[in-house]
Amino acid sequence: MTGGTPLRTLDEDDLLDRILPLFGGSDDLVVAPGDDAAVLRTTGETVATTDTAVLGRDWLDAWSSGSDIGHKVIVQNLADVAAMGGTPTGVLITLVADPGLSLEWVLDHAAGLGSACAEAGVAVLGGDLSSAPPGVVMVSVTALGRLDGPVVLRSGATPGDALAVCGSLGLAAAGLRLLETGSEDRHPLAVERQRRPVSPLAQGPVAARAGATAMLDVSDGLVRDGTRLARASGVVLEIVLEALEVDLAEIRGAVGASEALECVLAGGEEHSLLATFPVDLVPAGWRVIGRAREMAAGERPGVLVDGHSVAHTGWDHFRSS
Ligand SMILES: [Mg+2]
Repeated sequence: MTGGTPLRTLDEDDLLDRILPLFGGSDDLVVAPGDDAAVLRTTGETVATTDTAVLGRDWLDAWSSGSDIGHKVIVQNLADVAAMGGTPTGVLITLVADPGLSLEWVLDHAAGLGSACAEAGVAVLGGDLSSAPPGVVMVSVTALGRLDGPVVLRSGATPGDALAVCGSLGLAAAGLRLLETGSEDRHPLAVERQRRPVSPLAQGPVAARAGATAMLDVSDGLVRDGTRLARASGVVLEIVLEALEVDLAEIRGAVGASEALECVLAGGEEHSLLATFPVDLVPAGWRVIGRAREMAAGERPGVLVDGHSVAHTGWDHFRSS
């Protein structure tokens, strides 16, 4: 990302002239970026969220291109909008960077941001550019969305509900392990998902309209995110390991059985959607992996996998299975 043309050789207006054409609009964009602020047409309630990625913390240039990072930070944000039942409509993007950063990296990054937004039909509403001390590169995205149906919180799961997932589990984490060990060729799709996660964004509003009682996106791992949902709702989520066999089988050959289990149960950055539904309302495209039940006397809310508390037993039980 260094080398090439340093950013400091351009003034901000010249840089924006290069970047803005890489961003698309949408039918709801009334005033495009370039004025003091953009204007977005909207109705009803607005979903808002923000997420930031920092070089060296959230990505390594050795593993991800500027375009990859642009794609990833957009998907991370849009997945949070979808997880509320919202349809993403616009993003604001802030880049804070060492002036020695190369223009080529920034343009590649902007192209990734722009293409991820275009894929999702989301307008880039604008953002900010700011300089940073040597070596620092940070991109922050704020996403907005609209609610066409009910909002879905983490707190609405009811005993008896089905627990269902839409999308893959463990692929992005398996990809990270392959990058760490220099064995990307063992599962190129997993590596691709680590670099460019895919979230079933349209399924957020679908789930909301279908009657989802609670929902979130799997950003930090099935068990960890499931525990968040369980705690917010005051229920126990019972996951059936057999229901995850399709995910395990997908990556077992690439990372081995025990790593596959850890990736599927604990792997982050997947951005699939996890939700609870009344059992007869699970929409097409979602697969049931367990159920919510009432806490027993003295029991705390949480996630059990085949009846075992993963947090309490560690992974050993599953490694032997
Ligand atoms: Mg989330």
